[in-house]
Amino acid sequence: MKRLIAFCFFIACVAASLSAQAPVIGISSYNEASRCQVNLTYINSVRQAGGVPLVIPVTDDDDQIAAIVATIDGLVMTGGEDFDPLKWYGEEPIRALGVIAPERDEFDVKLIRAAVAAGIPVLGICRGEQLMAVAFGGSLWQDIPSQLPSSYVKHRQGATTSAYGTHSIDIEPGSLLYRILGKDKAVVNSFHHQAVKDVPAGFRVTARSADGIIEALERSGRLQGFRDGNGWILGVQFHPEAITGAGNPEFLPIFRELVGQAAARK
Ligand code: MN
Repeated sequence: MKRLIAFCFFIACVAASLSAQAPVIGISSYNEASRCQVNLTYINSVRQAGGVPLVIPVTDDDDQIAAIVATIDGLVMTGGEDFDPLKWYGEEPIRALGVIAPERDEFDVKLIRAAVAAGIPVLGICRGEQLMAVAFGGSLWQDIPSQLPSSYVKHRQGATTSAYGTHSIDIEPGSLLYRILGKDKAVVNSFHHQAVKDVPAGFRVTARSADGIIEALERSGRLQGFRDGNGWILGVQFHPEAITGAGNPEFLPIFRELVGQAAARK
């Protein structure tokens, strides 16, 4: 009997340590009316990749953000509204600017800066990729069609499903994204009218669409005002979570890499 109890205890300990090993991946959310929202595709993509998703509610409280950053092993910054151009990169808003969300801007910038300072791996998707420019000293095109008439590719796709890729991207050989996907070309979905304009110091462009729009960024060195230059940061302008969430595994390796980096840091 004693042996059986000891054996059960041993199994329980193994199970606890195994579950403790799965990294916790924070996922930024947004507020809509009186609800905290995030698309399930982000949550399901993190789960499919072996991570434990943890939805993070919008806050501007530094202590809350510090406590959350101390809890997570990795972070996904999600898609959404336009950033306030005057506040974050000193440009007057042009008429084609979309809806801005000042509370979320503040939250996203504080959260990514705290996560990067702590060396937590960060994956930014769509707005989350544009956030990398906003939070670390770069800027955005406020509206591609009106500011870049030569950009001929349709970046707000019209396909009936968000899981369907409509335009191609060229991926820089040797880059992080190239290593993750194992190819220098991909067809991606596209739901943006803004894009990164000035790339901040410490980042490099690793994918572009055929009309030259930035479709991926990754860390290449030290960021302005940050000591450590080793944290894993990847931003993509497309939506791998919509494709992964629909059961197509083509971009699942992006989430696997994030979860793997989070596990390694842990
Ligand atoms: Mn695009």
